[in-house]
Amino acid sequence: MSLQEKIARLVRPEIQVMSAYHVPPAQGMIKLDAMENPWPWPQELRAAWLEALRGVELNRYPDPSAHELQAELRAVMAVPPAAGVMLGNGSDELIQMIIQTLAAPGRVVMAPEPTFVMYRQLALVAGMSFAGVPLCDDFSLDVTAMLEAIAVRQPAVIFLAFPNNPTGNLFDAGVIRQILDEAPGLVVVDEAYAPFTDHSYMARLGQHDNLLVMRTVSKMGLAGLRLGLLAGPRDWLAEIDKTRLPYNVNVLTQAVADLALAHPEVLEEQTRAIRAERARLLGALRRLPGLTVYPSEANFILLRTAQGRASAVFEGLKTAKVLIKKLDGGHPMLADCLRVTVGTPQENDVFLEALGRLL
Ligand SMILES: *Cc1c(COP(=O)(O)O)cnc(C)c1O
Repeated sequence: MSLQEKIARLVRPEIQVMSAYHVPPAQGMIKLDAMENPWPWPQELRAAWLEALRGVELNRYPDPSAHELQAELRAVMAVPPAAGVMLGNGSDELIQMIIQTLAAPGRVVMAPEPTFVMYRQLALVAGMSFAGVPLCDDFSLDVTAMLEAIAVRQPAVIFLAFPNNPTGNLFDAGVIRQILDEAPGLVVVDEAYAPFTDHSYMARLGQHDNLLVMRTVSKMGLAGLRLGLLAGPRDWLAEIDKTRLPYNVNVLTQAVADLALAHPEVLEEQTRAIRAERARLLGALRRLPGLTVYPSEANFILLRTAQGRASAVFEGLKTAKVLIKKLDGGHPMLADCLRVTVGTPQENDVFLEALGRLL
């Protein structure tokens, strides 16, 4: 039997048809494709950070539940005292743990679409079914479609990205309320973009026994650390924690995150600058012809080009050494769409200048 035949026989069919998460090369590019914070750490904190790493014992396993870090994250993210908390190697790992806790053939993971692609990917990897419910044309939740899908499919878990990626908007609080009331299973509000909006479900933990709130330090400026937080009822988290691999948050991440969170003012100042720059970028983009610019509560902006133009604009920007994200060709509602992360003022100026020439 040839290697290809063995693979075709052994690898699960749903894995064979999948594509791996693709990260394009970005060497030498202005990187506006992945919702990273563009600002580096100030020099004086870098010295403290190296000092903190000097004290780390690499021969020892990390604190298995990262107690100190949990306490700091609770404070920075305003987790209600009664809520439980668990940490993940990025919030991607938390999504995976939630799904693995509930996974069984025929059980359903649900999310409105278009949304963050990992909900679908991780559901299918776990052997579950995925039900994507189309958003309305303005990317708001379709309340009728959502409630009907919940009644028919009885999802074990519903993921709501709030603000949503890649559309950048918040969902209506009244509709989320109805979803929380009608859902037979968990509702996870994924607040990856919390630093860039004034709205959150964190304070509502305790009001619904099926609500979990997820956060990450990635979009606030620590993407390289891989650290996410899940907050919710302690009884739920005790079950989900059984799927966690021991020592999933490594010693280097714990040490550096401890230090970073002890200086929340640095990240807060950076996210304030990103929010101000988002407003400027939105204004400048709206003055360009031939572009639909969607409002954003996140650190990225969704754009729609004239019909059939998205690839040419994307490639033209790449030639100008600006890497953004091409969404056209993914979900049908994202035809002709591009997504740009808010960068530094200089990076945004290069992007705007190149984009202006391409439209
Ligand atoms: C980026 C993103 C994540 C993943 O965050 P990590 O903590 O880096 O794994 C989760 N959810 C949404 C909606 C995102 O956009």
